[in-house]
Amino acid sequence: MADQMKVTRATFNDVMVPNYNPAKMIPVKGEGSRVWDQDGTEYVDFAGGIAVNCLGHCHPAMVNALTEQGNKLWHLSNVFTNEPAIRLAKKLTDATFADRVYFANSGAEANEAALKLARRWAMDKHGAHKDQIVAFNKGFHGRTFFTVTVGGQPAYSDGFGPKPGGVEHVDYNDLAALEAQMSDKTCAVMMEPLQGEGGVISPDLEFIKGVRALCDKYNALLIFDEVQTGFGRTGSLYAYQQLGVTPDILASAKSLGGGFPIGAMLTTAAIAEHLKPGTHGSTYGGNPLACAVAEAVFDVVNTDEVLTGVKAREELFKSKLEELNQRYGIFKDIRGKGLLIGAELSDDYAGKARDFLNAGAEEGVMVLVAGPSVVRFTPSLIIPEADVLEGLARFEKAIAKIVG
Ligand SMILES: *Cc1c(COP(=O)(O)O)cnc(C)c1O
Repeated sequence: MADQMKVTRATFNDVMVPNYNPAKMIPVKGEGSRVWDQDGTEYVDFAGGIAVNCLGHCHPAMVNALTEQGNKLWHLSNVFTNEPAIRLAKKLTDATFADRVYFANSGAEANEAALKLARRWAMDKHGAHKDQIVAFNKGFHGRTFFTVTVGGQPAYSDGFGPKPGGVEHVDYNDLAALEAQMSDKTCAVMMEPLQGEGGVISPDLEFIKGVRALCDKYNALLIFDEVQTGFGRTGSLYAYQQLGVTPDILASAKSLGGGFPIGAMLTTAAIAEHLKPGTHGSTYGGNPLACAVAEAVFDVVNTDEVLTGVKAREELFKSKLEELNQRYGIFKDIRGKGLLIGAELSDDYAGKARDFLNAGAEEGVMVLVAGPSVVRFTPSLIIPEADVLEGLARFEKAIAKIVG
């Protein structure tokens, strides 16, 4: 390989658009649930690339799929189809409610396709008046202008001029508020079946069943954004499978590619019909390289061993966090499902989640936040027990530093 230019975190500020403010260190290598930076310092990874690296870093099944496909065929465009895409779609439809799949490159794009499909379905079937999309405060669906408008965080959607119209928001878990918004004009309800970015908020079972019933009553489509909850994260392939509520459209990304960019929108044959040839598309979506990697991830994740392993790791994680809380009294709630875990800081530390993230990094453990007061953990679904214990021991040192 040619000599590579030496770059540092300082170079970032000189060459990058300043929409991110990454950590001071630059990771250069990962293996399993461990990561090393430019200086050789090692970290336990509880962030998993924000719920993406579901098999950790450089899992052999993924590396094999990538190199094998990389030596065969990378890209064709959608003028041609390809074997990995068809195989992956077959596996996804066999394993879920869905009959049809549309591939994209990210979560936002999978959601964008879901929203456009819902609008097109409503127009075709019911008329142009049926255009209302109801979503939830604190929801997150991606950063395209349509998805950020449907997301319930004005800080992300304001300041860009006129937004796509016909979008309303109500509070999550407030069925009465949703009912008050809905009518025959409602085209779709979009929700996460466990809010991730918004603070790791689970749906009440009665609420989510009620959402389905209201969608049925008003002939509206139910769209589940499973970009974060999907692909084993909560202990089943998709979260809906443990909730007893089936959506009409489902968006998947993040863990789907295990680190290779890919998104997918899943739906039924009857709804899919409304995306006729030419109505929507993507140059890269369903690219053979991405689909070959995702197929390898699917084959590992969609097994009893991995899915029951998620539940065992959830119990270990939560019981260890409870122990930390008994010693330091810093959390007022430890919640979430599977390996999407949130620890809400007690009132004394409200608004300080980022301090815990930074202190963790200094002690050699990567964690996430979900809003100002929740520390979030989304590690690899196959993280070894020893790494959980070591990472939490390092996190305890970070806590001790902050508590003083
Ligand atoms: C991360 C996320 C998205 C956006 O995915 P991108 O790949 O960043 O576009 C959408 N919805 C949810 C629930 C997410 O967690």
